[in-house]
Amino acid sequence: MNYISTRGDMSRKHFCEILLEGLAPDGGLYLPESYPHVDDATLTRWRAVYHQEGYAELAFEILSLYIDDIPAPDLRSICHKTYTAEVFGTGEIVPLRHLENGLWLEALSNGPTLAFKDLAMQLLGNLFEYELARRGEELNILGATSGDTGSAAEYAMRGKKGVRVFMTSPANRMSPFQQAQMFSLLDENIHNIAVDGVFDDCQDMVKAVSNDLEFKRKYKIGTVNSINWARLLAQVVYYFAGYFQATETNAEKVSFTVPSGNFGNVCAGHVARMMGLPIAKLVVATNENDVLDEFFKTGVYRVRSSADTHETSSPSMDISKASNFERFVFDLLGRDGARVKALFGDALARTGRFDLSQHPAFNQSTLRYGFQSGQSTHADRLATIKDSFERFGMLIDTHTADGVKVAREHLQPGVPMIVMETALPIKFAATIVEALGREPDRPAKFVGIEALPKRVTRMAADVEAVKAYIAEHCA
Ligand SMILES: *Cc1c(COP(=O)(O)O)cnc(C)c1O
Repeated sequence: MNYISTRGDMSRKHFCEILLEGLAPDGGLYLPESYPHVDDATLTRWRAVYHQEGYAELAFEILSLYIDDIPAPDLRSICHKTYTAEVFGTGEIVPLRHLENGLWLEALSNGPTLAFKDLAMQLLGNLFEYELARRGEELNILGATSGDTGSAAEYAMRGKKGVRVFMTSPANRMSPFQQAQMFSLLDENIHNIAVDGVFDDCQDMVKAVSNDLEFKRKYKIGTVNSINWARLLAQVVYYFAGYFQATETNAEKVSFTVPSGNFGNVCAGHVARMMGLPIAKLVVATNENDVLDEFFKTGVYRVRSSADTHETSSPSMDISKASNFERFVFDLLGRDGARVKALFGDALARTGRFDLSQHPAFNQSTLRYGFQSGQSTHADRLATIKDSFERFGMLIDTHTADGVKVAREHLQPGVPMIVMETALPIKFAATIVEALGREPDRPAKFVGIEALPKRVTRMAADVEAVKAYIAEHCA
């Protein structure tokens, strides 16, 4: 399988060449040259593989269609090392739970940091370690986080050979639970940097370091952001696993509702559907930051300014633009790289928006690709959390609540609707208290983490200071 850029660069690359890269050289995102098609016999075989041999083996089957530069026995052992009941809490890895008639939750959040990002990041950690050892190289991951991504990256890379993580976060802005989760990691290759400033200051520092090409090369600086193709590919697997749990035969269809921010999770659903998974609808659920809902309703994609980006109680969906959206638009426009470059490279840079409402392809987003959308507000979130708890005894987190609220608006008789549970309620306890007047239960392994010893370096929002810190700790 070869990979191409969404902006027209057709130099074909293999999986391991793009694994450690971010954007393609032309500024686009990598996608496979074509999606492998899964026929009915293969789908039947995979169903048996998932039920009898487990999630790790299903992951191997799917990944091996996209990865031709890791020998099969190695890829299989990477999958089996990653997806264990010990790390993800259950043998099913992503068990379905029934909420009410036709409405299911797929539990994606039982990994080490209690958010769905673990499912991809844990695999990425093992792939990075494997590939860096094979090349005899090292990588220093520099990132900025306001919570979920940074901790998922740290828990995936801790103790891995050849990798260090330097993770900046705004000092005292994360929840006490999130801070405890990250800062209690004492592994030598994990560096927490608490910056005097806000998340944007952290992100600006990371950008400034990455723009210093000499520093970047000398210290082998890399990232693990959501545009990484390997992360997206890892996520494709749980769409198949959800389908196999909700259906008994391949004649049945299901729909998914996905609490969305950067469009990474639901884009994996799009890939699964392109491979032939029988998905009726892919419903994109947003919070008050409704960039994506606006596009699917009107055909206009408009990037928000930071003043126009709301801080909400489902903070991992607070985005001003959706960084993976370009991948879907590439498919929507018949894989016309020049057109995508004109939209994402030129129009967005110039005007911050583009309009596909008059383009014949726009109608295809629903008709041909099954996309629908909806949004949810703070009041919806509180009401949905309360209702799920009172009627079904099911405590859900704020992001999942956005999903459940929107899913109900898109139910079809006879088609199971699976809502992706993207985090556990303990991560967003303050809003749970607001909704229910009580604290969410804490999984046993997190009891008392706030009292653990912490390892974190406090720093001014100063690019030279972070560079000096990296240089000192790479020696
Ligand atoms: C990252 C995240 C999302 C958004 O996922 P995208 O792939 O960016 O669309 C939703 N919910 C939670 C809890 C997250 O951590």
